[in-house]
Amino acid sequence: MFDTLSDRLTSALQTLRGKGKLTDADIDATAREIRIALLEADVALPVVREFIAQIKQRAKGAEVSGALNPAQQVVKIVNEELIGILGGETRRLNLAKNPPTVIMLAGLQGAGKTTLAGKLALWLKKQGHAPLLVACDLQRPNAVTQLQVVGERAGVTTFAPEPGNGVGDPVDVARRGVEEARHAQHDVVIVDTAGRLGVDEELMRQAADIRDAVKPDETLFVVDAMIGQDAVTTAEAFRDGVGFTGVVLTKLDGDARGGAALSVRQVTGQPILFASNGEKLDDFDIFHPDRMASRILG
Ligand code: GDP
Repeated sequence: MFDTLSDRLTSALQTLRGKGKLTDADIDATAREIRIALLEADVALPVVREFIAQIKQRAKGAEVSGALNPAQQVVKIVNEELIGILGGETRRLNLAKNPPTVIMLAGLQGAGKTTLAGKLALWLKKQGHAPLLVACDLQRPNAVTQLQVVGERAGVTTFAPEPGNGVGDPVDVARRGVEEARHAQHDVVIVDTAGRLGVDEELMRQAADIRDAVKPDETLFVVDAMIGQDAVTTAEAFRDGVGFTGVVLTKLDGDARGGAALSVRQVTGQPILFASNGEKLDDFDIFHPDRMASRILG
């Protein structure tokens, strides 16, 4: 997903190589190249602005010392600032002291929530947890069945409303799901919620009602990295409407530009916890800001 960005950044930084000393003009020219590369990759403008200001300030103030030549020093600064945008330290999933840990998934329809529920369940299971999936997306036809299928593939139980009772109340299902987890000794509950094609008030209200009913330890905002600048606006809408404690980026295997998704951390202040990069259940991992920065810088 970040191949073009990676190429552009590498070539911007390459122009500094071999120079024994960097003038302010050299740094400005490189900063300009980096700025264009980030904007073309869809990184949000305020994030780009702050990033470039930091690079310029730090590069111009850098003492030439130690083992690094001036060009390497700038690469180091860019790397550190990129890690900063992506969240700095790896943020681990917050597990409750008194199980079950409740994890609620929120996001637009098609973001990859249901798939993620299965991925997360499998990942947790491999670590010795006993997750329970709870199907609270009662809006989309087949969403419950899709979660059950994903659950079966992951080898975990899915709690779903009984068929034949009409649409049902997602808040009630969420509450009963958590009760069921306590009862059946599941130590983690993953609550899949309904998404809409666009942000709307009813969706936000329903997600907020589920949140109030089950008091999640983590509310994860799931966002498709392919949707470009909408990733940022959607994240802001969910932050204000429901609130979330972490972000999951999906579809990082796609060929869209993806920079907007990389801006979500900086724009919302919430860390990226996981990344999904494919349709298979094990196309999923913890998000490490430093590894992502290294990947982007090539
Ligand atoms: P939901 O509406 O948010 O529950 O989204 P789904 O889980 O149903 O996913 C929507 C579509 O995206 C499905 O076709 C998934 O197979 C696909 N999908 C989910 N995650 C990924 C991913 O990381 N990479 C790719 N390529 N496809 C994904």
